[in-house]
Amino acid sequence: MVVVLSGNFRGQGPSKIVSIDRDSRRAIVEGINNALKHVKRGHPKSPQGGRVTIPVAIDVSNLALHCSNCNRGVRVKSQMIDGAKRRVCCRCQKFL
Ligand SMILES: [Zn+2]
Repeated sequence: MVVVLSGNFRGQGPSKIVSIDRDSRRAIVEGINNALKHVKRGHPKSPQGGRVTIPVAIDVSNLALHCSNCNRGVRVKSQMIDGAKRRVCCRCQKFL
């Protein structure tokens, strides 16, 4: 789960990441930055034509991981817990 830190959707979330493009550092986040695309007849998502909602990726630098314990976006560090590297919240030290 992530929250949005800046831009038009600032303060929104926590919501789920749908997909992430590591090369361009952009992520599609559920319910954030949807656009209406007008399509012609025969489009697989809208056979009769019209408008379809498509998600648009936003830059990952505008996102922060959401800590359910702190109930806000937080920075994380990695720590060895029981021999496994886990993400740990920098504020409350709980692993995410
Ligand atoms: Zn926390």
